[in-house]
Amino acid sequence: MAKVMIKCPETGKLVSAGIWVDKSTFEKAQMPENTLGHCPACGKKHTWTKNDAILEG
Ligand SMILES: [Zn+2]
Repeated sequence: MAKVMIKCPETGKLVSAGIWVDKSTFEKAQMPENTLGHCPACGKKHTWTKNDAILEG
């Protein structure tokens, strides 16, 4: 399992999206629009898509 990271648009930092996925599942998944309710870097709400996501590990 790998942790899904997204880049915070406010700070440019990589933050956890709070989701763990298999790499193969992630590659097949559509994930058109996802919401991060409370960004650990800036505390704001962000909407992200698969294109914004990076797998860690
Ligand atoms: Zn943020």
